This record gives sequence, C-alpha cells and structure tokens, in this order.
Amino acid sequence: MGYVRWYGHAAFELSLDTKKILIDPWVSNPLSPVKAKDIESVDLIVITHAHEDHVGDVLEILERNPSAKVVSVFEIANYLSSKGAKGEMVGGNIGGPIIVSNIKVVLVPATHSSPVGVPTGAVIIGKEVTVYHAGDTGLAAEMSFVGELYKPKIALLPIGGHFTMGPVEAAKAVELIKPEVVIPMHYGTFPVLWGKPEDFKKHIEDRKLSTNVVILKPGDEYRF
Ligand code: ZN
Repeated sequence: MGYVRWYGHAAFELSLDTKKILIDPWVSNPLSPVKAKDIESVDLIVITHAHEDHVGDVLEILERNPSAKVVSVFEIANYLSSKGAKGEMVGGNIGGPIIVSNIKVVLVPATHSSPVGVPTGAVIIGKEVTVYHAGDTGLAAEMSFVGELYKPKIALLPIGGHFTMGPVEAAKAVELIKPEVVIPMHYGTFPVLWGKPEDFKKHIEDRKLSTNVVILKPGDEYRF
C-alpha cells in the first residue's frame, strides 16, 4: 500500500515500494501545509526542471536528508552540486530509463522552458504502481507514447493555464495517456493559474473518458 500526497502546486510526496519519493518539492508554495524543515526520511527526489517553483526548496530538504538521491537531467544535477547540495546527484537525460533505489525513473519530454538543462516530465515505475508527473508542459503528442509504453495508473497533470496546459488541454492529454486516475495540479497557487479542477473534470466527462478524476486538497493523499 502506497500513496500520492499533494503539497500544492507541483509538489508531491509518493510512497512507493516503501520508498519516500518527492517530486518538485517546492513546499514554500502558499498552499503547502508543510515546510522544508518538516520533511524527513526522504529516499529520492525527482526534479522536472529548474524553475524556482519546482527546484526551490531542494537544497534545504537535502540538508536534512543527506542520504537522499536526486534524479534530474544531467545539467540540473550538476547545478545542484555546484550549489553545495547534500545527497547523491543522479543526472540522466530524456528517454533513458534510470534505475535508482530499485525504482525506475524515465524523464520524458515536456513542452516548456528551463533556466538550466531542459524541461521534463517523469515516469516513476515501481512494483506497486507507475506514476506519471507531467512537470510543467503544454499539450504534446509525445504523451501518447507515455500512455502506450508505461501505462501509468496515476497521472499528475498541470491544469492552471498561462504557463502550462489549462483544463481543455489537460483533458485532451488524459485522452492520450489513458491513466486510471488523474490528479490535477499547478492551479490556484496564484491568481494567474486560473484553471479550475471542476472544469477539468467536466471536459473529461465531455470526452466520455473512463479516467477517474481525483481532486486533492493540499496535504491530502490518494492511496493505492
Ligand atoms: Zn516551470
């Protein structure tokens, strides 16, 4: 039994195969119920890209979790090392499955920008379940490959608009990925991220998709 817990924005904690995995843990976001100093016993941190609202609290979290491993593209791993990051940096690149702590992580394309390296999404494959965190991205045809190759049970998709997909685009992404469960993210943090999860759910229903939309409150979790 594991869980996916949302800390607001794009920050998630995943308990998978008894490992504690953080994805884009910017827990200084205004919605987060936790602070970086509260986070302990981390095994793995996955970073999708180097914008502050994704990589922001990683150095502080690593100070308290020096045995954690960090998976990102090579350039972001080097950047974190140059900033004195504790922990083990595991730099890879897009499309190459990375095996770390008995978990497989595949960094996949994201249509976005990044001040360091390139933007990615991440497919996290354990024995219990496969989770796809799309990172910050627009709608992209490559998402159908993620669905076909990795068959993620759970997809974490941005719906806030402005910098990423909004509700309409994210519903089309669900049609391409075909997850059992989709959890919307990257909305409501600031007024500019205007996308509403209720609208996202309606667009999925309009497309007659069987995917279950799970709308979490910050701090809540979906158990699998
Ligand atoms: Zn970004």
